[in-house]
Amino acid sequence: MPPLDPYRPPPGESPARDQIPERYRWDLSAICLDWDEWGRSFRRLEEAIDSFAHLRGSLANGPSDLLVALRAMDDVGSLSYRVWYYAALHYDQDQRSNEANARRQQVQIAFARQQQSSAWFNPELLAIPLDTIRQWMEADDALAVYRFAVESLFHEQEHVLDERGERLLSYASRFNSAPSDSYSALTTADRKFPTITLSTGESITLTYGQYRAILETNRQQEDRAAAYKAFHQAYADNQNTYAAMYNGVLQRDWFHARARGYANTLDAALHGNDIPSSVVENLIRVTKAGVEPLRRYHRLRRRVLGVDSYKLHDLFVPLARHDERYPYDEVGELIIESVVPLGAEYQSHVRAAFRERWIDVFENSGKRSGAYSAPVYGTHPYMLLNFNETLDAVFTLAHEMGHSMHTLLAHRSQPFVYAGYTIFVAEVPSTLNEALFLDLMLTRARSREERAVLLQHAVDSIAGTFYTQVMFADFELQAHRLVEADEPVTAEALNAIYEGLLRDYYGDAVDYDTLARHTWARIPHFFGSPYYVYQYATCFATTARLMQDIRSDKPDVAADGVERYLALLRAGGSDFPMKLLAQAGVDLGLPDTVQAVSQELDTLVARLERELGAG
Ligand SMILES: [Zn+2]
Repeated sequence: MPPLDPYRPPPGESPARDQIPERYRWDLSAICLDWDEWGRSFRRLEEAIDSFAHLRGSLANGPSDLLVALRAMDDVGSLSYRVWYYAALHYDQDQRSNEANARRQQVQIAFARQQQSSAWFNPELLAIPLDTIRQWMEADDALAVYRFAVESLFHEQEHVLDERGERLLSYASRFNSAPSDSYSALTTADRKFPTITLSTGESITLTYGQYRAILETNRQQEDRAAAYKAFHQAYADNQNTYAAMYNGVLQRDWFHARARGYANTLDAALHGNDIPSSVVENLIRVTKAGVEPLRRYHRLRRRVLGVDSYKLHDLFVPLARHDERYPYDEVGELIIESVVPLGAEYQSHVRAAFRERWIDVFENSGKRSGAYSAPVYGTHPYMLLNFNETLDAVFTLAHEMGHSMHTLLAHRSQPFVYAGYTIFVAEVPSTLNEALFLDLMLTRARSREERAVLLQHAVDSIAGTFYTQVMFADFELQAHRLVEADEPVTAEALNAIYEGLLRDYYGDAVDYDTLARHTWARIPHFFGSPYYVYQYATCFATTARLMQDIRSDKPDVAADGVERYLALLRAGGSDFPMKLLAQAGVDLGLPDTVQAVSQELDTLVARLERELGAG
């Protein structure tokens, strides 16, 4: 039951922090009682950093010395979490606090010192033959805990060169960032934002934020078209420059892959997590074969928006409007209820998150924007929100709660060394929690409009995240393959790849104009973090596959699905992600896993068609 006087944030203003009732502010005393205790912990951290440095030269002595060093490293690591987050969370709750900021910087300086004074560790460990360490681990259970950590370090090492080679590569590292630096200079620092006049007569400078806002909210197609045209013209005008910069990215990746002895750039990108390239290839192939629900959605949008031509600038404006407000106290109860399928224990953790003040709910002046879940080893996770009662804010809470439960279960089940998880699995619990929450909200919705808004939220996250990310991965792969095959990389070649992809994915559900083929140049990920975004898509596929079991009306299938899923959360980072997913019954190399997403999209679009009366 909601408290008697639920607090609701005053719209449009940012109150002082102490005006917000305590129960909506996180309680950081679980990390440190106060700054005095923090100070003692910080000194302990500094001592631990120093004493770790003294272990240099001891690893080869034998298993007991190695164990001492590994444990000392864990001590430094787990202390770091407390000391860092106590200062960082204080800073984020009010970034005007010089006290918190100074302490946060103190920790950063300690971290930099720690990095320098422990740089000896990996080379020294790697100098011991792996077979020797394996024998030591065989004979010593405490040391055997570190098996995967050691094996994965050696695995990474497979493509490390000799000292001369590494030195040469380190000289090259100075210009690694030149292509992405020039890209950001051209798209931000040197960018002249165009000005357009809207149908209302209002004149608008098209910053990136303004551009998004027009595409997502403006219901006049001519305004969206004007914004799109003005915004992308700059990319078309500079297409040869963008192509040359992107060629720099591609050549750099190919240089590093070859220098380190990889067959291609994709293998080089996937080796660290031990992911076979067939996973990405399967993802792309199966998604491309499953684009029909995506096209169905866009045909529906064209009908509902009532436009003759439906173009790239019409993809984001909402179909249904329903300005429901969601008071936080009611939402909390719904979030707790939504996780019933995951069992009583999981639910009790979610309840604790609300009751024990793990969440900093509302905006206050000086508070950091956005939302996150902070994994604080040794206590429980914390969540920062800027909850504003919109549907987006509600799903953000469900999302961050998923991350937090992953953290909680992993931290409680794993030794420190495996408490963290990779991005390859990180977005599974967050999207799965969102899916459970959607299921509950759909049964609760009081009107057609509310159901339509909920469905569109879910559809957009599949259409906009899953399909778009896979299309981006497809573009990156095709572009990298140009350089791997010694083909020229020109603006024309890149435009042709992108235009081909738009047609492969959207078919004739969307109308194209001459600017569409240049829009690849607007995607910062291509320049800043190649071969990265596909991981969001594989997480979506994993979630969709797991939800098929968790939602099953056969109780044993559902129970088994839940058990495998919770085991995945508890596993943290204790093995390579593909192995952990295999134990959870998910094989990303199989077409079925990826098809689960298009099947889910099809179901959602069919429901959306019914709710909008546009079937
Ligand atoms: Zn997330």
